[in-house]
Formats: sequence, structure tokens, C-alpha cells
Amino acid sequence: MKISEVIGRKPDQKVVTIGPDATVRDLLALLAEHNIGAVVVSSDGTTVEGIVSERDVVRRLHGHEEALGSPVRDIMTAAVHTAASTDPLDAVRSVMTQRRFRHVPIVDDGRLVGIVSIGDVVKAHIDQIEFERDQLDSYVRQT
Ligand code: AMP
Repeated sequence: MKISEVIGRKPDQKVVTIGPDATVRDLLALLAEHNIGAVVVSSDGTTVEGIVSERDVVRRLHGHEEALGSPVRDIMTAAVHTAASTDPLDAVRSVMTQRRFRHVPIVDDGRLVGIVSIGDVVKAHIDQIEFERDQLDSYVRQT
């Protein structure tokens, strides 16, 4: 299965982004409003400058509540691992497992086109297993 198929099945394909100069307070509002765990940092909405997840916020705020006013660029991860929509899902799944992050932005020709979360990956995997089971089941019933 390709990443494009996973993105295509998502009910909401919009990628939530935040500018690097927005504050951690703004970021918290965005995470809560959209019920998501990570936001892509981008000044223009298409160029990936970083990624910031709830984990970064927790680490930073622990013992430093004044960090709510800090810019997102101070807590983001700048070296973002991205994938292309033509990449196989398996490759993204192993990167997430090995590197221990739960979000991979999808970038085609330098433009942000989607984001895949560990939840999307698990759902796609279960769908695939169920499809194969149903195929096998109907084959066995025919014979
Ligand atoms: P997550 O598991 O996605 O909540 O993120 C855990 C940590 O990995 C946080 O420090 C994130 O900023 C970082 N992170 C998340 N996704 C990526 C990614 N695709 N590339 C690089 N770092 C990431």
C-alpha cells in the first residue's frame, strides 16, 4: 500500500500548521482545537520548517511554565523526517517504530501535502489484514 492511499482514506486531509514565531500557548490552543498530537511548523503552510508534538510541549513546560510565551521555533524539531506520497506505507511504519515518533509529514516536490500519524498507519494495517481475511474466507467457502 502506498502513502497516497492512506491519505486518501482520511476523512479530514487538511494539515494543521503553525508559524515558527507563534507561541507555545498558541500551539496548545491549536492542538486542543483540532484534537491532534502534532503540528507541522511552516511560515507559508507548504514548506516544512519543523514539527512540534505534545511531547515537546510537555518536556518544555515541565518546571518552566513561563515557556508558554516562548516561540514554537524554540521547542520544535527542525530535522523533520518526511516521506513522499508515492512511498510504501511499510517504509513509514518502520521509520516510526525505529525512530519512535508518531507523525510523518508527507511532502511532494517540496510542498506539504499531508501527514500520517501512527493511528493512520495502524488503521491501514488492520484494514489490509481484514481485507485479506475476507478474501481467504470467501475462497475457502467456494471450495
Ligand atoms: P511524536 O511521537 O510524533 O509525538 O514526537 C516525538 C518527538 O519526535 C518530538 O520531539 C517531535 O518533535 C519529534 N518528531 C515527531 N515527528 C517527527 C518527524 N516526522 N521527524 C522528526 N522528528 C519528529
